[in-house]
Amino acid sequence: MDSQISLLEINNTIFGFNKFTGEVLQFDSLFEAENYQNNMESSLITPDMSTSELELITLTIELNYVCNLSCIYCYQTDKGNRHEITQPIIDMIIDYASSVYERRPFKKLLLRFIGGEPLLSMNMLLYCYEKFCCFCHDKKIALHVHLDTNGTIAMKELICRIPNIDISVCLSLPHDHDNMRSGSFERILQNLIELGDLCSEAITIRYNVTHQNITEFERFLKYIRDVLPHIRSISTARIDDYYCKAKFTNSLSARDFAIWNSTTGINLLVKYGFPIDHCTKSKFTQCQGYAPYSCKIYSDGMVGVCDAMLHNDTKVHIKTLKDNPSVLELTYPSIKTFSPFSDSDCSHCNDLIQCGGKLFCRTAGDVCDYQDNYIEQLFLETYLKHYLNGKADYYINMNN
Ligand code: SF4
Ligand code: SF4
Repeated sequence: MDSQISLLEINNTIFGFNKFTGEVLQFDSLFEAENYQNNMESSLITPDMSTSELELITLTIELNYVCNLSCIYCYQTDKGNRHEITQPIIDMIIDYASSVYERRPFKKLLLRFIGGEPLLSMNMLLYCYEKFCCFCHDKKIALHVHLDTNGTIAMKELICRIPNIDISVCLSLPHDHDNMRSGSFERILQNLIELGDLCSEAITIRYNVTHQNITEFERFLKYIRDVLPHIRSISTARIDDYYCKAKFTNSLSARDFAIWNSTTGINLLVKYGFPIDHCTKSKFTQCQGYAPYSCKIYSDGMVGVCDAMLHNDTKVHIKTLKDNPSVLELTYPSIKTFSPFSDSDCSHCNDLIQCGGKLFCRTAGDVCDYQDNYIEQLFLETYLKHYLNGKADYYINMNN
């Protein structure tokens, strides 16, 4: 077993990164650092290093499967195949949450609304939210709401009704955005401008990165600063061209994106005053797929474990689960009963906390490749350079 401490040298200073705790250490010399590394007793990662399993339940709810755009890289190639969600299905989802709570009370509930375009089903969204609001209020559960929308539909009323909502909207510079996302730039821009100050807490703009727009990121950030000064948060993601290769191929490889995202991407965000939410982890967190009772409910009521499970692979309906939530685990036993702490590889692996273990959505070949968004070593080097320049505060989730 190699050391749980990895060493880095930045500007002639030696740092150590503790992969178990996410802690960053600073040493006076390489000798001191190596001594520390050698004297560190090798220990196993244990379940008590994880966040409490049932503190949080995540329910992803697909409100519809239609959209008013047809983006070049959309992975939903069979849109229109399901009807909009109905009130009886939403009522069954509430019953499911209530049955889960009776068995094992939880403290936080994350509702993730997705589509299609979820705001085409605004009435259903609000009906669902109001119901969950009452349920959570009665049980003193903290309710968090996340929405992925294309931003073409006005959001002002929604943000006023759901004050702590967190909304993700995709945008890039006009020519790039219009080319990839059905000429919708101007509509989205006007909606965001209309939100004014309401934008600041609620909206995160997601910049979908390709070989075509990676070098325009700085121009994009300048543009946002000039035209949408209220926007406080920008995230980055690589466009996956798996489903659209015939129409669009992203020549930016996953590896090159991860390198950029750990270096240049962060440097530019800091330069233009945007926070960095990525961090090294100090606690093991189960992904939604593995977390007990967390699941994704499709608009027709079929239930999968998370976004990575396609509708075709779902095997159980919410009406079966609403009074018997443990049927979820019986339906997907290899996922819902998996624990990396009892897996022969993961339980001995120094990377477990940062990796999360063998996620079922990683294919057999890349099961250990957890650095698809950030390269750990490069991210740490970038963080430490900013830390030494007094800019560690930009990293809002980093223990600094
Ligand atoms: S907005 Fe989303 S769901 Fe609609 S076409 Fe674009 S990627 Fe697909
Ligand atoms: S999936 Fe691979 S890298 Fe991740 S914890 Fe398990 S053994 Fe380690």
